Amino acid sequence: MNQHTQDIVKGHKMGYDDILQLDSACVWHPYSAMGKDQPIFAVESAIGVRLRLADGRQLIDGMSSWWCAIHGYNHPVMNEAIKVQLEQMSHVMFGGLTHQPAVMLAEKLVSLTPQALNSVFFSDSGSVSVEVAMKMAIQYWHDKGQPGKQHFLTIRSGYHGDTFGAMSVCDPVTGMHSLFSAVLTPQYFVDAPACRFGESCTDSDLAQMKTCLEQNNQHIAAVILEPVVQGAGGMRFYSAEYLKQIRQLCTEHNVLLILDEIATGFGRTGRLFACEHANIVPDIMCLGKALTGGYMTLAATLTTAEISSTISSGSPGLFMHGPTFMANPLACSAALASIDLLLSTPWQEKIRQIEKILHDNLAVCRQMEGVADVRVLGAIGVVELDRAVDMHTIQYEFVAQGVWVRPFGKLIYLMPPYVIEETDLHTLTAAVVNIVKNLSP
Ligand SMILES: *Cc1c(COP(=O)(O)O)cnc(C)c1O
Repeated sequence: MNQHTQDIVKGHKMGYDDILQLDSACVWHPYSAMGKDQPIFAVESAIGVRLRLADGRQLIDGMSSWWCAIHGYNHPVMNEAIKVQLEQMSHVMFGGLTHQPAVMLAEKLVSLTPQALNSVFFSDSGSVSVEVAMKMAIQYWHDKGQPGKQHFLTIRSGYHGDTFGAMSVCDPVTGMHSLFSAVLTPQYFVDAPACRFGESCTDSDLAQMKTCLEQNNQHIAAVILEPVVQGAGGMRFYSAEYLKQIRQLCTEHNVLLILDEIATGFGRTGRLFACEHANIVPDIMCLGKALTGGYMTLAATLTTAEISSTISSGSPGLFMHGPTFMANPLACSAALASIDLLLSTPWQEKIRQIEKILHDNLAVCRQMEGVADVRVLGAIGVVELDRAVDMHTIQYEFVAQGVWVRPFGKLIYLMPPYVIEETDLHTLTAAVVNIVKNLSP
């Protein structure tokens, strides 16, 4: 390396306050106001389940960086996979070119997901994989001679991403539909089922869905749902039997079923994919988040031979989508390594242990004032309060306890990396219990 290259690579190290100052001057964060005083912490590095802040403080990660970092941070196997790929190529366009990481990953996803899913479309984020799923459904019906089927049916409290198509099927209230009403496609919404995970579901849980499908199926391309766990729309866990019934209703009414497994995929709920709880096969499945173990941004939309061949033999005979960074080789290599790493460990046993500790340790919150519900499924633990938390105070309180937990609305929740050790998990749950106990009324 010559001197100039060395200078570029080495850069220079900023102090903690300088980072925050520059951040507040010119950086926008997710779902936040620009330039306002808000709790923000500068991370310098991360290893295992620990985030190391730029001032030396360490936090135990209870969020897996939004469901992604299932193996924790700086994992040697993951690092090595990316280094090896980096020496080959970091990226090439996917139009007219292909490569080993992409074909190997596609084959792996096809082999792990329900048997009927065998065509893989890669994209670069979860939201885009949902857009792709919606376009596939519309193009499919177009090519089946039913071009009127251009709308979607979903349940309230859902979350499918922030782009316009995805946003149109998010919960209308939390998705701020009125704000975007002039550009947002109106879709069909029914209430989320009241039947909880582990319970059976009744006719009344299904009534609205049934009626809507009977009356509007000629306009509906697909039902889109997060299977079993509704994530960012409310952290609700609903009955697997409901999902089973929805599969049947979709088939009866000639409507496709899109399952958004972006948050639930790769073990989080205790099964590799949440649809396995109901033993059903969707027509289209979206994957993202933990797909690369949180290392790179990558998503995938999988579908059946029936749908891919209908689109490919219809008019225009092409699927109309193609991201610039489609099937990025670094991301595909990270995904391959992450999946192999997951499957080479007794992950189901690990999730069961996490589930038991979350269940045992968070239960005391049920008795506390201001707590509406406590629920645990797989490596997800939720304490729902009866009112929204004050982010400004609670975020500093969690950091003061040495943990990284980021509540939203009324929800304080944990979804730690699967590699977390028992003592660290106890520290996480103790922090939640402590803070819930001391919530100001
Ligand atoms: C996070 C998420 C998305 C959006 O993924 P991005 O990568 O943030 O675009 C979509 N659906 C579900 C269920 C999610 O949890």
